[in-house]
Amino acid sequence: MKETYSRSKSVWQRMNARERKAAMAYGEKYKAFLDTARTERLAAAEIIRRAEEKGFKPVYTMKSLKAGDKVYWNQKDKSVILAVIGKEPVHEGIKIVGSHIDSPRLDLKANPVHEQDGIVYFRTHYYGGIKKYQWTCIPLALIGVVFTKDGKKVDINIGLKDSDPVFYVSDLLIHMAQDQMKKTLAEGITGEQLQAVAGTHSEEGQTPKDAIMTLLKKEYGIEEEDFAAAELELVPATKSRDVGFDRSLIASYGQDDRACAFTSVQALFDSTAKTRTNCCLCVDKEEIGSVGATGMGSHLLENAVAEIISRMSGGYSDLTLRRCLAHSAMLSSDVNAAFDPMNGNLYDKDNSSFLGGGIVFNKYTGSRGKYSASDANPEFIAKVRALMEKNDIPFQMAELGKVDQGGGGTIAYLAAKYGMDVLDAGVSVLSMHAPWELTNKEDICTAYRCYKIFLSLEK
Ligand code: MN
Ligand code: MN
Repeated sequence: MKETYSRSKSVWQRMNARERKAAMAYGEKYKAFLDTARTERLAAAEIIRRAEEKGFKPVYTMKSLKAGDKVYWNQKDKSVILAVIGKEPVHEGIKIVGSHIDSPRLDLKANPVHEQDGIVYFRTHYYGGIKKYQWTCIPLALIGVVFTKDGKKVDINIGLKDSDPVFYVSDLLIHMAQDQMKKTLAEGITGEQLQAVAGTHSEEGQTPKDAIMTLLKKEYGIEEEDFAAAELELVPATKSRDVGFDRSLIASYGQDDRACAFTSVQALFDSTAKTRTNCCLCVDKEEIGSVGATGMGSHLLENAVAEIISRMSGGYSDLTLRRCLAHSAMLSSDVNAAFDPMNGNLYDKDNSSFLGGGIVFNKYTGSRGKYSASDANPEFIAKVRALMEKNDIPFQMAELGKVDQGGGGTIAYLAAKYGMDVLDAGVSVLSMHAPWELTNKEDICTAYRCYKIFLSLEK
């Protein structure tokens, strides 16, 4: 048996020539997904598009379900649940990989348009945990939906094409920044200063704000009050790129957690499971506490599973639903902080994950005394570990930073409340939550292999 749990050898060192070539090729597919699935809405649409290509159908269009059927649940265009029905009665439990498809960004406020000294700005309120200074002076794309007064939905997607304009949050020039440079990183740029430049032109007798609103009315049919019924996100416009002479790494926006969403979805498509029902969760709102109707804190999983059970032989009962969820097993596929040599003192090296070290298992997330962690059961970890060893899948056991330094959360604890076995399993990321995050290609590939083997388990 190969060494699967080792800090002395990287995944690359353990790979043969064919595996190395495959890992590099897989990186190309992954980048294409990242460049399309730039927001939770775009990710949900892309996942559904790919699922439909593979024969998945909306659950609510199916009268009954039998082994082999492939279905999906679309939660308000922002969360998606995919399922492949197995032969076994569903009360014996299902196998789940669960990721999230929202990422930190700048959201437009309800009254965003504002002009100051000849410049038109969009006011924003940041979404999720960000270091505000990182969001200045980078190209931003504006993506989302706006509903006009007559109820028309207008899709906005400006900035991802090379020919598109982008939006821009400015920062103070260094020549005048003596006072700013004395502030802390948290205070140097404030939330209210995260306003994106949206234009400067106007005709004589017209303000720049009026000119921009006239343009928006003409091009998109949007009026100023329509921003009240909108969900518009400013996200980094730059495409994903290879990093390093050896192209071993990928820099991109949104890898937390689309690294795991992409690999989980692909794993479900490629799973060979026949007996157990397989399920892939791609949920919204994780970055702001899994709240809302599209977050994991809602009833979306149990509702979707209830819809599935009601279409299976035996029909729906509350007890069947409870047994199904309680007997299920899940890999909570979310990213972990990669060890950062530039800030090594903040990590316990023996309990850190490394770029290129393979899939990361996190027994507990949470912070300051494991608070808010789901704290996986060793019985389940042992099963997953044995599975990795049997299939030569390199893994690392880690937590996020030193005790009382780091901490974080995933959707794991929200799945665990049903009584199911859950373990956090994901890709290590450097510069997590930055506009451009860094991952390693072998890790992406290993995550896919891990999820696929887990879903393919017949017991
Ligand atoms: Mn995450
Ligand atoms: Mn996150």
